[in-house]
Amino acid sequence: MKIQWYPGHMAKAKRKMKEDLPLVDAIIEVIDSRCPNSSRNPEIDILAKDKARIMLFNKADLADPARTKSFMESFRKQGFYTMEMDARSRSSVKGVSKLVMESCAELLERKKQKGILSQSIKAMVLGIPNVGKSTFINAYVGKATAKTGNKPGVTKGAQWIKIGKDLQLLDTPGITWPKFEREIVGLNLALIGSINDEILPIEELIFYLLKYLTRYYGSALVSRYGETLQGKEDALEAMDAIAVKRACIKKGGDIDYTKVSRLILDDFRSGRLGRISLEHPMKWEEDSQMEV
Ligand code: GDP
Repeated sequence: MKIQWYPGHMAKAKRKMKEDLPLVDAIIEVIDSRCPNSSRNPEIDILAKDKARIMLFNKADLADPARTKSFMESFRKQGFYTMEMDARSRSSVKGVSKLVMESCAELLERKKQKGILSQSIKAMVLGIPNVGKSTFINAYVGKATAKTGNKPGVTKGAQWIKIGKDLQLLDTPGITWPKFEREIVGLNLALIGSINDEILPIEELIFYLLKYLTRYYGSALVSRYGETLQGKEDALEAMDAIAVKRACIKKGGDIDYTKVSRLILDDFRSGRLGRISLEHPMKWEEDSQMEV
């Protein structure tokens, strides 16, 4: 199942982002902790080679804590300054300024040696749709500045925001990229709500989710949907059992796959299934080969 979403306004936003890149010292990427690899735009690494890099692991409250920790460690080794957060909480975003300043310490030192006294930093905030970028900016600034909504593509335009006396943020619209190189990326982005739901084949998507959950999070299925899920290793069997349990049955007695799919997707997105990560730090290659 190939999922792709790159509407025209994103191509335009990318051109603008490229134009603005020379203006900034640092890049702050907001990602979804449930799938760090899938939820970061791979084009950024090419475009932002010589910038300080900060990666904010948002929605950490919904992700598997051990996996988040391990992902953060791995990105730190690649030179990123990382922090986990729940952007809805102001206390959670408090450490960001310190992190940005740390990431730019060398740059500030070089400036100082050249006699430039200003310690001012400009950072661009990037993120694919629905990772919580606007929620983060609003919590960070302390007032509603960016529009938020649980619908991809809500953030409009780009804008500069002043944080204290030394930091300026450039907010940008959430964009995806033209071609997901692996099928699993499209699936994960669909599951976390970064792709317009209207274009999604929801039953296939949930079939994939159940394949993944029966492999890694069987106990979450049991705690949410009951003992009948115990030991279910087959995704379709699991889907049927959930449908029966939750009365997702059509008039004639057939299973209502659309209804049960919506229910499972909702449970996953809201965290009612527990803290679940869609990627495993050590098994990314293996999972990408999973047949859908
Ligand atoms: P954007 O498209 O990246 O700007 O995303 P938004 O800021 O509009 O957020 C999308 C949805 O995710 C909203 O319903 C937010 O309330 C929710 N959200 C944002 N950050 C978090 C978080 O850290 N944890 C949880 N559970 N929800 C979040």
